[in-house]
Order: sequence, then C-alpha cells, then structure tokens
Amino acid sequence: MAELKPVYSTDPAFCPACRRSPCTCADPAQLKKRQPEPLRLSFQRGAKGSGVTKIERLIMHPTLKEKMLSDFKRRFGCGGTIKDGVLELQGDRRDAVEVELKAQGYQVKRIGG
Ligand SMILES: [Zn+2]
Repeated sequence: MAELKPVYSTDPAFCPACRRSPCTCADPAQLKKRQPEPLRLSFQRGAKGSGVTKIERLIMHPTLKEKMLSDFKRRFGCGGTIKDGVLELQGDRRDAVEVELKAQGYQVKRIGG
C-alpha cells in the first residue's frame, strides 16, 4: 500500500472543518466523527429587548454553514449572520432551532438562560 499523502490546505477540495479532501461534511454517516461535542445553543439579549440566538461549535464546511443559516432565516422569517463561525439568528429561536438540529442528528446543549 502506498503511504497516505498528507493533506495540504492548498488542495482546493480540502475542507477546513472536517479536514478531509474531498469534504465529508454533507455525509450524515460522518456527522458523529466530525461533531464529537454537542452544539451550544444560547440566546443573548440585546439592548432594546431584541437579541440573537447563537449556535456555536458547529464544525461544518463554510459553504454548508451558509446554507444552514439561509434555511433557518427563510423558515423563521428572521435575519441572521455568521460571525467567527458562530451562527446568529435574530430573536429567540432556541426552541425551533433545537428541534431542527436534533432532527438533523446533532446533539444540542443549551447554555445560559
Ligand atoms: Zn468538510
């Protein structure tokens, strides 16, 4: 058997999230390996009674993360963004997000209030 070649980040198919080339983030069978820790779900209250729901520790290819965010935004009819890899949705969406993430096979841990 030939030695496994090291994977360098210059490889265009290399994924920084799952560290595979090609990326396996979309493969449900790889979810547990890729995501050994539960996601952290929290709500951070804003200044004027507003606030954001945060989904942290999601290990996923940036493109797929964007897709997940836009799915949530469309479904909940809210705004949202990705900041330093953290998904942020406007308003308190914890209940709906938790149900959705669990349906997709993720473990979810709520933190804070
Ligand atoms: Zn990946």
